[in-house]
Amino acid sequence: MRRLGSKIVGIDLGTTNTALAYFDGILKKGVCCTNSDGSLLTASAVTFFSEENVLVGNGARDSAVAYPDITATLFKRKMGIETDGITVNGITYSPQQLSAIVLKSVMNDAEEELGEKITDAVITVPAYFGTNRRRATMEAGMLAGLNVRGILDEPVAAIYNADSIGKLEGKNCLVVDLGGGTLDIVVAHVTGDSINEVFIDGDLNLGGSDWDAAFREYIRKEYLAGKQLGVEDEQELLIKTEMAKKRLSDKTETKFSVSTCEGRVDISLTRKEFEACTCGLLERVRIVLDRVRRMMSEKTDEREIDLIVLAGGATRMPQIRGLLDELFPGKNVSAKDVDCAVAKGAAAYARLLEAEEQPGVVKMFDNPEAKKLKRIAGRSYGISAYIAGTEEEKVWNMIYKNTCLPDRNEHVFQTRYANQKTARLEIYENNEDAYRAELEDSALIGELVLEINGDLPVGTPIYTTLTLDENGMLHAKGYEKTGQTEIETYIQTEALLEEGDLIAEQEQIATMLQVV
Ligand code: AMP
Repeated sequence: MRRLGSKIVGIDLGTTNTALAYFDGILKKGVCCTNSDGSLLTASAVTFFSEENVLVGNGARDSAVAYPDITATLFKRKMGIETDGITVNGITYSPQQLSAIVLKSVMNDAEEELGEKITDAVITVPAYFGTNRRRATMEAGMLAGLNVRGILDEPVAAIYNADSIGKLEGKNCLVVDLGGGTLDIVVAHVTGDSINEVFIDGDLNLGGSDWDAAFREYIRKEYLAGKQLGVEDEQELLIKTEMAKKRLSDKTETKFSVSTCEGRVDISLTRKEFEACTCGLLERVRIVLDRVRRMMSEKTDEREIDLIVLAGGATRMPQIRGLLDELFPGKNVSAKDVDCAVAKGAAAYARLLEAEEQPGVVKMFDNPEAKKLKRIAGRSYGISAYIAGTEEEKVWNMIYKNTCLPDRNEHVFQTRYANQKTARLEIYENNEDAYRAELEDSALIGELVLEINGDLPVGTPIYTTLTLDENGMLHAKGYEKTGQTEIETYIQTEALLEEGDLIAEQEQIATMLQVV
């Protein structure tokens, strides 16, 4: 029976795990596909035994210690920031390519389960991802051969999922999404027909894998001091530490043993020890949540959080629940399906996208609950310029993070020299609320070069406008009145590949997976 209620699937491309869900036309909600291991989650890990022999998923994650030089993990942290993910046998794979290999693998498994070809997807990203990282995620999808129909914020996807399970109408929801690699926070107000983002925050370098690393270091120091660990011992330690961490979410004590060159060592651990050695990480969560509380107290219309929605496997840790109880006492917490909530929510959103494109089909499948998304800016955007009479260059923010989209603002700059023939408008994004941001805290995302007609004096006004539309696309415009010159464009981060290369890459990625 054809259960697909939408041909667009939802994919949660996570730092540690990836999940793919489709919208079930009968159940009227997102459903996750199982992979070839029978699991709903596929580890975002790739081992290159050779150029054509690639292992993807949980097997690759477990090979990370035995084959560290040929195994790539946690590459989402480099997406859109670094061009190199891993170099194996002289071939460098970008984070986009590595992500595409994982995407292709989950697509293959889903096609097997559903008996249908997967062509289109909504891919989720941390709400906190800037423009370059979103673009890189889109390219990963394209490399996997997908039509990427949308890039959706992970916490917002979790709200779509929660809303498809129980009614959230009229509620202010705080989503706390702590996955393997990122902490992502969104506050949103849900109405009868829309999900309105209010606040976005997070920490892109904080996730369950950091708790694993801190716990491993503690175990090494307290239980394995003076012992040598071979490669296989290290691998055992890695896997067993994560398992112990998970057990300590349910129990207050756990035991395991690991092999060392000096023989097996019995290790007995308590939740207290785990929480003590990871308290610095919890503090980082507290810093972000404190910012949320501050923002809520400053807003006049959205003062109260009505519901906390949890997503991401690492929110199972009791210390996270404890912190939320401390900071938001007495609030209802929804912690259903934290592993798959994002992928399922992305599938529900994908269904909405398709319905919008085919209004006739909406009626047939009708899903009147599907809500429109009203976004806010996840970052601030501005143009760099020198402070008058100095050599000091700053970013002059024009669109501020957390303002409702669309947003449009103007700023007048001045030429620095007499007879200046060009004005370079460099556009940056950053995380600052302030009018001026430091260049080193900002990322360059594009530039416009305005040609100037005539010999104009120093201090000639250059009128600039930045517009961020409701889809988060940034439009920039520069204008000089006297010589009547104007330049404008949508800011696109640079594409990874030319179209011809893209097709070659797509074919290569498809072949790699056929021979595994
Ligand atoms: P996700 O990206 O949502 O798949 O989250 C993966 C992270 O959640 C990994 O770091 C896991 O170790 C962690 N995780 C999953 N289950 C648990 C659990 N029961 N207790 C603590 N952490 C968990």
